Parts: sequence; C-alpha cells; structure tokens
Amino acid sequence: EFKRIAFIGLGQMGLPMAKNLVAGGFPVIGFDAYEQARVAAAGEGIEVVSSLNEAVEGADCIITMLPNGKIVQDAVLGGDAFLKANAGAVLLEMSSSAPTDTRVLSDKVSPHLRVVDAPVSGGVKRAVSGSLTIMAGGETEALNQAMPVLDCLASSVFACGPVGAGHAMKSINNFVSGAGVIAAVEAVTLGTAFGLSADTIIDVLNASSGKNNATDVKMKQFVLSGTFASGFALGLMAKDIGIAAELANDLGLNLSGLKQTSTVWNEAAEAIGNGADHTRIYEFLAKSSV
Ligand code: NAD
Repeated sequence: EFKRIAFIGLGQMGLPMAKNLVAGGFPVIGFDAYEQARVAAAGEGIEVVSSLNEAVEGADCIITMLPNGKIVQDAVLGGDAFLKANAGAVLLEMSSSAPTDTRVLSDKVSPHLRVVDAPVSGGVKRAVSGSLTIMAGGETEALNQAMPVLDCLASSVFACGPVGAGHAMKSINNFVSGAGVIAAVEAVTLGTAFGLSADTIIDVLNASSGKNNATDVKMKQFVLSGTFASGFALGLMAKDIGIAAELANDLGLNLSGLKQTSTVWNEAAEAIGNGADHTRIYEFLAKSSV
C-alpha cells in the first residue's frame, strides 16, 4: 500500500484523476508547473505543493500525467528530482508518451524507481467518473503494487507487456480513434453536400457497420452540438498519432493509412493550433474540402 503518492500534472485529465484518488482514500500530494492548475486542484480538495521536489520527497509512488514523454523526462530527470522519492518507488507514467521515451526514462531512473507505463483512454468524462481504460506496461510486481491505484481510476486495466508496451498500445488506439474521427467528419461533409441531413447521416451510421466512437459519441456531443468541448487538444491527438507513425517507421513498416492519418492531423494542428479542441478538425476538413 502506497503511503505517499506524488501526482504530477493536474490538467484536463490529471485533476479529475487525482480527485478520484483522494476520494478513494489515497494519500495524494499534487503538483503542476502552472499556478492556475495548482489553485484549481487545491479548490477541489487536493493537497498541493508548489515544487516538484516537495511533491516527490519521500513518495513511494509518482504519477505523471503530462503532455508527452519528453516533458516527463525533463521533469523527472531534471535536477535529479526522482532521487528524492523512496528507493524502489513506482513511477506510474500515465501520459500518452512514446514507448522509446519510456524505455529511456526507465533505464535512467532504475533501479531507484520502477517504471510502469499506464496511459489511459476514455477522455475527460471517464476520467471524472473513474471509468477509464488503462493499458499498462512493466514488471508484474510493480504493476500489481500499483493495481489498487489503477482500479480506482479505471473500469478496465490491461497488462500489455514490458515497459513501453502500454504506450505503444495507446498510440495504436489513438491511430484508430483519430482515423475514425476523420472518417466521421468527412462522412458528414460528403453527405450534407449531397443533401442528406447531418442527423440522418449520424443516426444511420450508428445503426450500421460505419459506427465508431466518433460517430457514436464525438459527432453528436461535440461537433453537431457546436460545443467542441471534448477536453482533448488537437496537438495531443496529432502527437499520439505521430508516435504510432514513428513506431511503424522504427519497425520498418510502410503503413499508408497511418501515414495519411498522421499527416492530416498534423496539418490541422498547424492550421488551427495545438490548443484547439481536437473535434475542431471538423471545421478544418470541411473548409479544406472545397
Ligand atoms: P493538459 O495540457 O490539460 O494537462 C497537462 C498538465 O501538465 C498541465 O496542467 C500543465 O501545466 C502540466 N505540466 C506541463 N509541464 C509540466 C511540468 N514540467 N511539471 C509539472 N506540470 C507540468 O493535458 P491533458 O489533456 O490532461 O493530457 C495529459 C496527458 O493525457 C497527455 O499525454 C494526453 O495525450 C493524455 N490524454 C488526454 C486525454 C484527454 O481527453 N484530454 C485522454 C487520454 C489521454
């Protein structure tokens, strides 16, 4: 049982996750580099400190929920912050990072820390409800030790293999998810140009073989409603699919659908900005279609 959990990164996902851990009785100390995020977390009843070192000091578990693996490396390795944690502590790397970065991180922090990569899927909604899907990589013993924490955050936890396996799996998931978003938004652009109503297109797809998470959830909730408030940034989606594309490259695989998907998301991020909600790719693709 962990006696002190340092939770680093209290953003869109990290804040509700840390909140659920606190509600579940876990001893969480939060930190975020951004003052406003710390203030928001404190307002949600999370004990926060104003430096990384303070958070990590004496921790037997460190959770990172940061934008990417390079940032995780900078944070954890910079100033040797990780050495402040207890020997043998578990580093639960829950960001969507590149598996190559995760292996570098693991090599650098071990044996002082034992890395388990445990990225999540399900978005802000399921972070709030504690029903994420977690795909984990790492040694069985460390993973088992972290299991009560993961169970508090998720409704399913998959052990995928050694360190990096969870992050590889996450990039593969977001490739499929991101390709599904492109298919769904182009379907609406195509169908409405023909004269079908957007609602009809989505309803028929959802009752047919064209159904995917974007047609089922994202189109109605965030695109057709005009809210574009999924809480998942365009730049993060482009990053995730880029990780999958890089993985294919490293493995000597030529996957044209993946390449194309990655290109489209990168172009969208360049055109409308990394910080825009990822569902705004609908507007970008609709505009660039004519
Ligand atoms: P976010 O940008 O809302 O949160 C990241 C937080 O990290 C920010 O509050 C930022 O201030 C903080 N931060 C950045 N650098 C830091 C540092 N060096 N030290 C401490 N804090 C630092 O992002 P998010 O949407 O919460 O995503 C976090 C991770 O989860 C990403 O890897 C993302 O791809 C992944 N993810 C996001 C979603 C989603 O729906 N938003 C879903 C699944 C996975």
